[in-house]
Amino acid sequence: MSPPPKFVHDLPTPDPESPSLSRPRQPYRFSTLCATVDSPNGDHKDQHGSSSVPIYQTATFKGIGGQYDYTRSGNPTRTHLEHHIAKISSAEHAFAVSSGMAALDVITRILKPGCEVIAGDDLYGGTNRLLTYLKSHMGVTVHHVDTTDAPTILPFLNPGKTAMILLETPTNPLLKIVDIARISAMVKERCEDAVIVVDNTMMSPYLQRPLEHGADIVYDSATKYLSGHHDLMAGVITCNRDDLAKQIAFTINSVGNGLTPFDSFLLLRGTKTLAIRMDRQQSTAMHVAQMLSRMGFVTHYPGLPNHPGKDIHDRIADGYGAVLSFETGDKELSERIVGATRLWGISVSFGAVNSLISMPCVMSHASIDPATRAARGLPEDLIRLCVGIEDPADLLDDLQHALVETGAITLAADDYIRIPNTINKAVEKLALGDRINSDRTRENREWFVSAPGKVILFGEHAVVHGVTAVAASVDLRCYALTSSRHDKKVSVHFPDLDNYQHEWDIDDLPWDVVTSIPAGEEHPDTLDQKLIDAINTRVLPPADQVPRSANNASLAFLYLYMTIAHGAERPSFHIVTRSTLPVSAGLGSSASFSVCVATTLLLLTKRIALPPFPPRTRESAEPGDPGHLHITHHGRRAITQETATEVNRWAFIAEKVLHGNPSGVDNSVAVFGGALAYTRSGFSRKSGMEQIQGFKSLRFLLTNSKVPRDTKRLVAGVAQMKMQCAQDPEVVEKLLDAIQTISDEARRALADPELSRESLLSALSALINENHAHLVALGVSHPALEAIKALAGSDPYNLSTKLTGAGGGGCAVTLVPDDFQETVLDTLVAALRNENFQPYLTAVGGSGLGILSPYDHGLPARNGQVPGPMTPPETPAEELAAADDAQGPASLLTHFENVTLAQLPTWAEERGRWLYV
Ligand code: PLP
Repeated sequence: MSPPPKFVHDLPTPDPESPSLSRPRQPYRFSTLCATVDSPNGDHKDQHGSSSVPIYQTATFKGIGGQYDYTRSGNPTRTHLEHHIAKISSAEHAFAVSSGMAALDVITRILKPGCEVIAGDDLYGGTNRLLTYLKSHMGVTVHHVDTTDAPTILPFLNPGKTAMILLETPTNPLLKIVDIARISAMVKERCEDAVIVVDNTMMSPYLQRPLEHGADIVYDSATKYLSGHHDLMAGVITCNRDDLAKQIAFTINSVGNGLTPFDSFLLLRGTKTLAIRMDRQQSTAMHVAQMLSRMGFVTHYPGLPNHPGKDIHDRIADGYGAVLSFETGDKELSERIVGATRLWGISVSFGAVNSLISMPCVMSHASIDPATRAARGLPEDLIRLCVGIEDPADLLDDLQHALVETGAITLAADDYIRIPNTINKAVEKLALGDRINSDRTRENREWFVSAPGKVILFGEHAVVHGVTAVAASVDLRCYALTSSRHDKKVSVHFPDLDNYQHEWDIDDLPWDVVTSIPAGEEHPDTLDQKLIDAINTRVLPPADQVPRSANNASLAFLYLYMTIAHGAERPSFHIVTRSTLPVSAGLGSSASFSVCVATTLLLLTKRIALPPFPPRTRESAEPGDPGHLHITHHGRRAITQETATEVNRWAFIAEKVLHGNPSGVDNSVAVFGGALAYTRSGFSRKSGMEQIQGFKSLRFLLTNSKVPRDTKRLVAGVAQMKMQCAQDPEVVEKLLDAIQTISDEARRALADPELSRESLLSALSALINENHAHLVALGVSHPALEAIKALAGSDPYNLSTKLTGAGGGGCAVTLVPDDFQETVLDTLVAALRNENFQPYLTAVGGSGLGILSPYDHGLPARNGQVPGPMTPPETPAEELAAADDAQGPASLLTHFENVTLAQLPTWAEERGRWLYV
């Protein structure tokens, strides 16, 4: 049993010096406690009566049986400091180590492999890094949840397993508030052995003492307020439980990261002025926050009346601290403001006597990728201010000057106000997901995305064994549209898969088995079989009651949804997917589906964001027209590589759910479009993906044999064949080498600017025939494909055909030369149809992932009003029914579900401006 917590106010009050005093002395107040350093032993007096604690700059101590022998185990200067920290922190035990991160390292050594940690999803970056290490190297499961919403942790509490809850409040730099007291109570009730750890750096013991609110261990980066001068690195740990203190002391002595005597001296010195520094700093911070808020900037500071969670903060803390942040609505403007201040130093960190200004997204948080920053709701234009002890008037004056100089504010009626950039602001916030101050659950935006299928021109099957594949996008695509629901359900509708529809209560999904992957982290190489089994057995209808493809699509969707969505971020929405690609024909229909699902999920959970609002010009449409805002934006290449890469990673996971062992080609083409050469890693050839520059558009006839092929089985078949060739193991290897040569030659030909079109087509024809023959030898063709090949190769067509796709070619590709007569082609198409095959004439090499622009939707004018910049249409539930407006629907949903597949591409194209990778 741990001793009851000891409050600052309970600390022993010195006995009245004179018994004649009638009034007992009050307990010392905090600043008195700070300024007076007591001897740890009570009676210990320095031999020379030094009034400041000396620096015992020694590694060893003479004698046997004394209190100290070796500084790693203990040092008098450090002991004084630790005693002092315990005193001001309401703690029985305190430890001083070499940095804030060292403190967390010591604390997390309590954990054992197999145990679980619940941590906030907006933690200091170094904390995240350490937790990720524990996860990947120590077998510790870490759940990142939105701890600002206390009940969010409930589903993650796992009695017997949950060993630690790691909290930070307020967070940096958005000052989000976590209710330590409520979470502590909730945890203790359900998992009494779990240790509650709080990072108290932003507040210091002066303003917040989490041990008084149920925390078991508290640590501070003493580099900040406790030291106050940015002249040392240190971390302090406090706790009341003897058992925890014993473990912490053991680790510090074992690893040797106790604070050095000199830094202990400096930290002790800094701590004496903690209260007086913080009083001044937070009083100025309040002035600065009020000024910025009055001017019209979105300002984050718990001292402001409308700050989310202020009531909680007021309950657990004694002040608001000296870090605040504000948004300007324009990243470049923010950069100019930061550069224009003189007194505010540009630097990372906080807590020192001098004031600092920074832009977290380009400084302290730049190591977090933009998608994660966006997902965490960190605006790119955010400016963070860390207020020091300079004269408040000078600080306000300097900031005001910088704001005026950069055109952020102007004088109006005797006061400075923000120069409004309302439209800019509104739209940029939408692009970033408008996380700040938004009610996530009520978001009504529709996201409309699409991704192409692919043909593997050369190298399918062999790619699984390390051969380079050449693949290109086709102009047949999958489309997905999401619209929000407000009833805690997710639902799917696949109109082209037997019109399959299903909905699930989000709370009924098997969250107990999921290991969510926080934003910015990658899914492990292997799928979570426990989750797959749980979805199959507990969520999906029995397999025999549902078309297989619809069941698989639901499984992939739910797997991704549950892995990506976590904490309070479980969006409730409806997704409809449609595809002009034939399913199971080897044309990458599942990959384009995976890309669409991954993109919408990442957008809905704000893990990816579109680039900032494109440049605007004020243009006059007509002479005399006062002008309207016009977006100069060209649609193409507007999705960044980072976003595309993130989508691609998740799409690959969905592909794995669908196919077991996909090559990675299909999803890459569906994301990046064009043509690419792909070599899998783990083999002797250099792995990677290379865009084939200068790829010349080619016409192909794609013919679906309508013989469904089982990709998993066929891929496994080749692998088995490779293994079974025991007598002549080189047979398959030789085939693979030959296919590699074909891929190399095709790549050279496709990228060769000197090669005439005629020579290119004839070279490709020969390579197509050769490649097909090798695929036959690998045992992956089938009679229907051979019939297609024979028909297209017969007189008068004489065209080259090969199967395509690892699915063994549910589909065949036939190269159509430029000068091939249209009437002859028509006859061939008719002949193929006659044989009950499904031919599609297609061009290859077009765009990859597309997202309907949130900036403008290009719909025709409604009621005489030209739509301005806006998000994809909002779909309030009431409007859905009435959405069928001939002038241009308010919602895309109804039309998307009903438009014919033949009309779908044109209809989608006309919905507005598409942004592409
Ligand atoms: N916790 C928070 C909230 C921090 O801001 C920091 C550093 O910025 C740390 C922990 C890590 O502390 P240190 O840099 O002293 O290792």
